[in-house]
Amino acid sequence: MDIALIGIGKIAVDQHVPAIAASTDFTLSATVSRHGKVEGVEHFDDIDALLAARDDIRVVSLCLPPVPRFEVAAKALRAGRHVMLEKPPGATLAECYALERLARENGVSLFATWHSREADKVAVAKAWLADKHLTSLKVTWKEDVRRWHPGQAWIWEPGGMGVFDPGINALSIVTEILPHDIHLTDAHLLVPENCQTPIAAELTFAHPEGASVTADFDFRQEGEQIWSIEAVTAAGTLTLIDGGARIRIDGVDEALDDHNPLAGEYPRLYAKMAHLLTRGAVDMDLRPMIHVCDALSLGRRTTVEPFIE
Ligand code: NAP
Repeated sequence: MDIALIGIGKIAVDQHVPAIAASTDFTLSATVSRHGKVEGVEHFDDIDALLAARDDIRVVSLCLPPVPRFEVAAKALRAGRHVMLEKPPGATLAECYALERLARENGVSLFATWHSREADKVAVAKAWLADKHLTSLKVTWKEDVRRWHPGQAWIWEPGGMGVFDPGINALSIVTEILPHDIHLTDAHLLVPENCQTPIAAELTFAHPEGASVTADFDFRQEGEQIWSIEAVTAAGTLTLIDGGARIRIDGVDEALDDHNPLAGEYPRLYAKMAHLLTRGAVDMDLRPMIHVCDALSLGRRTTVEPFIE
């Protein structure tokens, strides 16, 4: 099936292009971007030009930052194209609901992807936690923004989410693996004086069975990069490490089989998109985004030193 990639930046080049190249379901047939291109693939400067010229391309995958993404997604859905969205699915919740409504009105598929949910051991962790009594869960998501997001000024602008851009990945895993829904009760946001979005955040959640659930996000981490989730239960401690790529039970690395023959987060996302298309389905789980919006709504802000790239 022909697919167009829209917003040829870091994640499109690092992950989407190789995942589509390896896919047996999709062929990259066009790109839309103001500057970015993929060699050998037809290029358009904007979505209107693509929609007018290539009626045969029925699926588009959007890799734009969250703020400019809505307009493009809405145009594609109104034109009857199936749409796959990078995370987060929008800059606001109302936008996400509007896109979902448009997809249903136009009878097309919409997939709000959460790539971290496709990490190797996330399904294993979900299965392990399903029948356990949770005592506490602690997320530690600390990375160096200069290393992973060089030159991405949009992260510091309204709607860019700051440290929640990676933090929402952790929340996408937490909401996937916990058998119970949680809700945010407290947040402390550290905002550089020259930025609109936080560089670090500490979150506290309420859990229906009284477990302590917290998250510590920090974009200022140098040296070791940490993307871990530790869940303490009455039957032992599960730790997801490296963003869900590895799992430990009671401190011992487990080689638990994830039963998923497709390797890699993005190949799995494209396989899921292909499956949604066969059913004409919409997959829009907004729980990770709700927690981020709640943190931005409820959070206490402390101004910290300016961020210098
Ligand atoms: P990026 O490198 O900044 O690329 C996004 C591309 O979108 C830009 O290269 C730009 O291409 C285009 N664009 C259109 N309007 C834009 C605007 N107003 N501001 C900035 N760029 C605009 O960003 P990215 O890292 O690929 O992230 C894109 C999305 O993927 C984000 O939602 C992010 O959370 C998600 N994501 C990123 C990563 C990662 O490691 N970077 C990982 C997973 C998910 P043109 O100039 O050619 O139009």
